[in-house]
Amino acid sequence: MKLTVIGCWGGYPKKNEASSGYLLEHDGFNLLIDCGSGVLSKLQNVIHPEEIDAVVLSHYHPDHIADIGVLQHAKLIQGFLGKSFGTLPIYGHNQDQQEFLKLSYKEITKGIAYNPGLPLKVGPFDISFVQTNHPAICYAMRIEVEGKVLIYTGDTSFKEELIPFSKDADLLLCECNFYGNQNGKNAGHMTSLDAGTLAQAANVKTLVLTHLPHYGDLAQLIEEAKQNYGREVLLAEEGLIFEI
Ligand code: ZN
Repeated sequence: MKLTVIGCWGGYPKKNEASSGYLLEHDGFNLLIDCGSGVLSKLQNVIHPEEIDAVVLSHYHPDHIADIGVLQHAKLIQGFLGKSFGTLPIYGHNQDQQEFLKLSYKEITKGIAYNPGLPLKVGPFDISFVQTNHPAICYAMRIEVEGKVLIYTGDTSFKEELIPFSKDADLLLCECNFYGNQNGKNAGHMTSLDAGTLAQAANVKTLVLTHLPHYGDLAQLIEEAKQNYGREVLLAEEGLIFEI
C-alpha cells in the first residue's frame, strides 16, 4: 500500500498546509484517513476529490474532520458539471450522533458507523480499531493488506493497549503533539518519548511522527523519540510518500 501525507499539523493547519489527512492507496482503491482543515485543497495535488473511494475517520475534532463539508460540496459541484459517481462512504463511529449524522449528505456521501469491536473491510483494506485516550471519543486504526500493516494512532495519550495493537507493524504513523519535557496526558496527546516507547515496545519497523506541534524545533522530536526507539524515525510532511 502507498501512504501519502496530505496534512500533518495538530490542532490547525500551518500557513498554506493542512491538518490531519492521509491518503492510502492499494490496487487502485483510494482511502482517505481523516479529513482535517486544508486537506481538500492539498489532496488535489495528488488526486481529484471525486477519485476518493472511501473515507475513514478517527474522531470528530475539527483538525480531523473540518473538510468533510467541503468534500461533500466538491462532489456536489462535480456532479452538477456532469460527472457521475456513486455515493461516497464515510466511516466513523456513531458515539457522537450529532457529528455522525453530518457524514451523510444527499446521495453524495453516506455515514457508515463502524463497530470498533469488529474488523472492518474497506476495499482491499482490513481495518481494526482500539479506543484511544483523548477528550473526544477516538479510535486508532490497524490497517492491513497482503500481510503489510499500517498503524495510525489517531489522537491519544500513551496507552498500554496500543502496544499489542501495533505489534510488528511495518509503519507506525504516531501522533506526537508534545515534546519530551512536556506532559500530554491531560490533553490526550503523546510526547516524542511516548512515541519512541510505543514504537520500541511494539517492535515496529518505521516510526513516523505526525500531528505535529506549531512551536519549537521539530528535529528535537526525532532525537527524543530515538532515545527510546532504535530504528528509523521520520517526521510527517506534506507530500511525503511511504511504500508499505
Ligand atoms: Zn483530537
